[in-house]
Amino acid sequence: MAEPTVPPRRPGFETLAIHAGQDPDPATGAVTVPIVQTSTFVQEAVGKHKGYEYARTGNPTRAALETCLAALEGGAWGLAFASGMAATDAVAHLLESGDHVVMADDVYGGTYRLFAKVFDRAGITLTAVDMREPADVRRALTKRTKLVWIESPTNPTLRIVDIDAVTGIAREAGSLSVVDNTFASPYLQQPLGLGADLVLHSTTKYIGGHSDVVGGALVGTDMALRERLAFIQNAAGGVPGPFDSWLVLRGAKTLAVRMDRHSDNAMAIAEWLCQHPKVERVNYPGLETHEGHDIARRQMRSFGGMLSFELRGGETAADRMVSRTRIFALAESLGGVESLIEVPLAMTHGSVRGTKLAPPAGLVRASVGIESVDDLIGDLAQAIG
Ligand SMILES: *Cc1c(COP(=O)(O)O)cnc(C)c1O
Repeated sequence: MAEPTVPPRRPGFETLAIHAGQDPDPATGAVTVPIVQTSTFVQEAVGKHKGYEYARTGNPTRAALETCLAALEGGAWGLAFASGMAATDAVAHLLESGDHVVMADDVYGGTYRLFAKVFDRAGITLTAVDMREPADVRRALTKRTKLVWIESPTNPTLRIVDIDAVTGIAREAGSLSVVDNTFASPYLQQPLGLGADLVLHSTTKYIGGHSDVVGGALVGTDMALRERLAFIQNAAGGVPGPFDSWLVLRGAKTLAVRMDRHSDNAMAIAEWLCQHPKVERVNYPGLETHEGHDIARRQMRSFGGMLSFELRGGETAADRMVSRTRIFALAESLGGVESLIEVPLAMTHGSVRGTKLAPPAGLVRASVGIESVDDLIGDLAQAIG
């Protein structure tokens, strides 16, 4: 009788983050992936090489990162880009003149700008909808809708979109669905399992995690889609260099432990803010009072490190507070180990001032880092005053 076979167990997230695509270097035994800083690769004879020819097309450090990111999202393939926007640009290049895009009305501002102010000239049309109501997505679809662009949680008001419901609507309509998973990271949320065709990351944020690199990525399952996007990646050339790829790969190794701490710290701060007399409203999907809390519980492991809140006293109170913090640095961006704070209307979201997409004037956004939570709460307390 044959021995009973033990089915191979898929390694856990933390193991994949450290080992997927990262076997010790066969040439030297180096435990970490080498930074292969070269623009070209030698050929033994014409067309006879070790898989690499020219470094825009492929580089071993980048390939290790792409394998790792695919594993973390549960995808079949990953493609790394020079920035989150370069990854978005590659997706936009799948479209042709006359195609229509349905987009969440509070997506990352740069995403909206690329479609509304660059790809409009290529004849691509755009409808922005509030995706909290999936029926509104269905109503926005046309015969030419080729792409549905989802983000959850959103920025800066931390809205939650039911990813499974919206990707289902896109699929029925024969449209590709993309989820910008930057805010959640693959540790907290895996959109491919919720029906998405593509996941996009600004690896600048949580995956890089240390505010020291700009990068982007796409992950998917369909190999034909991979071929089209890899062609665009090589043709347009928005690729990350080997050192930047290596920094993102190093960041990814600690993603799980960092996200746990980001989430714990943000939850404690959100609860503290809720009981503060000078705080009018707190937006954090981990709070039971958040309108998207039940959906977030279903589709996320925990609730992440981003939150926003409104101070009584509006813009003046917000500006005063963010200039008084000592640990929270007044800066744009997010997702690093250090805590950052900003006023979206005056900083990250200045371009939508005066439109219906403008965030409330007194809104403060925080990217909660992994410092001691008591120090962070003490800092906010003295700054709110
Ligand atoms: C930062 C960001 C982007 C753009 O990424 P870059 O790396 O800055 O080009 C896209 N989406 C979200 C949600 C982001 O936060």
